[in-house]
Amino acid sequence: MSDTQPDVVVVGGGLVGKAAALALAQTGLHVRLCGVRDAAPAPAAGFAQRIYAFNAASRALLQRLRVWDQVPAARVQPVASMRIAGDGAALRFDAAEQGVEALAWIAESDAIERALDLALRFERGVALQPQRVVAALRAAHDWTLQLDDGSHLRCALLLGADGRSSRVRGWAGIGQRSRPYGQTAVVANFACDGAHGATAHQAFTDDGVIALLPLPQQQVSLVWSAPDALAAEFMHDPERLTQRLVQALPALGAQHLGALRAAGEVGGWPLLLQRAHSLVGDGAALLGDAGHVLHPMAGHGLNLGLQDVQALAAVLAARGVQSCADARLLRRYARARAEQILALELATDGLHRLYAPSWLAPLRALGLSATEHLPAVKRWLAGYASGLGVLS
Ligand SMILES: Cc1cc2nc3c(=O)[nH]c(=O)nc-3n(C[C@H](O)[C@H](O)[C@H](O)COP(=O)(O)OP(=O)(O)OC[C@H]3O[C@@H](n4cnc5c(N)ncnc54)[C@H](O)[C@@H]3O)c2cc1C
Repeated sequence: MSDTQPDVVVVGGGLVGKAAALALAQTGLHVRLCGVRDAAPAPAAGFAQRIYAFNAASRALLQRLRVWDQVPAARVQPVASMRIAGDGAALRFDAAEQGVEALAWIAESDAIERALDLALRFERGVALQPQRVVAALRAAHDWTLQLDDGSHLRCALLLGADGRSSRVRGWAGIGQRSRPYGQTAVVANFACDGAHGATAHQAFTDDGVIALLPLPQQQVSLVWSAPDALAAEFMHDPERLTQRLVQALPALGAQHLGALRAAGEVGGWPLLLQRAHSLVGDGAALLGDAGHVLHPMAGHGLNLGLQDVQALAAVLAARGVQSCADARLLRRYARARAEQILALELATDGLHRLYAPSWLAPLRALGLSATEHLPAVKRWLAGYASGLGVLS
């Protein structure tokens, strides 16, 4: 397969790129995945630092790709409830109340990537290339790509799954707007004495948004979106991070976790809001962070990327005799993704702005309490977060 000219080249071997290569090959296209690296092996003890909350739509896609069932159940934690707190008020979601199996599933990025690597190895329609793409030019309905070993590739459709600094975006002539949040997501795992009860906690505080996700083996994963200066302090002094997290447990409604012990390294990701002006260009499409980057408060960035994969694969599966790079097909993909991406961008950015000024605190508390007593609104919110629409 690696000598055949591919129909599609996917640039970027992250989670979105690997899922895209697999999904498109399953529609009968010949796919080349560039910049691919094998996922890290499972850590000898505990969990890797990079943890994601997968919603129902992402899990369904990974099940269809025969990836999800390859992830050991012992490394996946279903979320039974979620508590969101701010200004002394709280909103709670329960899977049982919403009539769903779980609100989300927490898993390590590497564990999902290992399962994707395995599935890709068995997929005859995909050829894997570790080389990165360094230049691309479109002429006469075809792309010519240059790889970092000096070799060249040609294809009809170029897909950018190359992350927030996407070069495909530039090669396809697609502009973007970008705004830093002045916050860094501080990420670390902790072992706790008390049972977490499969509950995820999130609190809006004066020091940023703190999220604690349950993990198997009585551990929790922290994502603290902290102002840059505070984040730098935490990165420099992890002991201080543990102390401040313990102090924040009442605000999170998570005192029952008891004593916390750091389990692994502390990591930091600078946060920004970024959106490509379009998800498609001439013979090219963007997926995942190449097209949109959100604040991680709702844990939706990767879920959106996987839903890009789902939408593009659905459009290309119905291509009939059209070329996979046909402009009408690509526009259909962009239209299919527009509403959800905009809605989540407005929701996460809106919440970030709403929780910035302290004088809005009484109104915010009122809003959370009111929502807590409106089952129909909670149902709608839970449905939207699942990626499946309103829950029946
Ligand atoms: C702290 C934090 C917590 C988060 N939590 C969640 C969560 O719980 N749930 C969720 O859904 N999302 C979450 N997100 C968002 C999520 O991390 C991203 O949306 C997701 O990782 C994007 O994946 P991607 O494959 O699009 O990009 P990336 O993971 O950035 O992958 C891009 C890949 O492309 C490769 N590449 C780049 N340039 C080239 C080139 N020229 N040639 C070849 N390869 C190239 C890179 O090496 C990389 O492998 C979180 C984000 C942060 C910061």
